[in-house]
Amino acid sequence: MMIIMQPGATKEQVDNVIKYIEKNKLTAHSIVGVGQTIIGAVGDSHKVPAHIFESLPNVQSVQRISKPYKLASLQFHPENSIFPLNGFIIGGKEIPIIAGPCSVESRSQIIEVAQAVKEAGANALRGGIFKPRKSPYSFQGLGEEGLEYLVEARELTGLPIVVEVMAVSQMPLMSKYVDILQIGTRNMQNFDLLRAVGDTHIPVLLKRGMSATVEDLLMAAEYILAGGNTRVVLCERGIRTFEPSTRNTTDINAIPVLKSLTHLPVVLDPSHATGHSAYVTAIAKAAVAAGADGIMVEVHQDPPHALSDGRQSLTPEGFAEMVAKVKAVAEAVDRCLVPAKSPLPLGEADRV
Ligand code: PEP
Ligand code: MN
Repeated sequence: MMIIMQPGATKEQVDNVIKYIEKNKLTAHSIVGVGQTIIGAVGDSHKVPAHIFESLPNVQSVQRISKPYKLASLQFHPENSIFPLNGFIIGGKEIPIIAGPCSVESRSQIIEVAQAVKEAGANALRGGIFKPRKSPYSFQGLGEEGLEYLVEARELTGLPIVVEVMAVSQMPLMSKYVDILQIGTRNMQNFDLLRAVGDTHIPVLLKRGMSATVEDLLMAAEYILAGGNTRVVLCERGIRTFEPSTRNTTDINAIPVLKSLTHLPVVLDPSHATGHSAYVTAIAKAAVAAGADGIMVEVHQDPPHALSDGRQSLTPEGFAEMVAKVKAVAEAVDRCLVPAKSPLPLGEADRV
């Protein structure tokens, strides 16, 4: 349920509403707008009658949110969420590009690729250190050692780092160093992990489960938002269909569908969505044309020898070409890429 305050309602009146929300065993989440405050009362709210709030001073109206996801809904937050991701802004006109290898493989590998993607226009560096592999015999990631190399690559390039967290037990380590926590497709409904990242203030890139509906994805995002972490970015990364010619099927529909249902930024990962480097640029362009707020793409300096996902990885040269093409599409749809900034390393103070 949403409690919409009259413009000009005082802080005391807003606090009074919050007190009533909590008294009814619900949780309050406020959006303080320029002229007006909206307070979401989430939890088991259908048993709580709206008139309890309607009669409080300076309450304009009370509305029920019809969707099962509440804080993620466009009804609760009618404007796009625009927020900083440690070095750039997502959700507005500018489209950030996150790039890097599937896995961190060695110090020299991540530093070389970080410098190459930075040079070509990336705004954040990705790299997995705990890898969710189908086979227990495949490369599982370098673990903490890989994180040390990523931190060094961040210091050298100033790019914030995006790293997948696979388990709640990894959170103490990850939350110390990572700028953006990635939740992978296989963990989209790991509710304990969603709660754990919801308890932090670190931005989260939440990837859609490969067999999850758009509504499932939004319900997963709701777990994180309900914990109080408002910086959630949704990521379409392809879904399983009967079509075997690509690794997954890009659900390009999901971009406008999500934009019609939620205020959260939507990113597309054309690497996992296609599984083939030859198709990555086409799908990155399609995503931006369809309204995506960002692109996350895998880049490796030697794809045939990559320890994971080499087939879908662009070379640094291929990545630079992709960036140029995506830039042209962004401009055609009245958006732009994040402008290059000074190469100064990111200071502690920039990481919120
Ligand atoms: C990845 O980003 O390398 C990854 C494992 O992604 P997904 O969870 O989408 O498969
Ligand atoms: Mn990968």
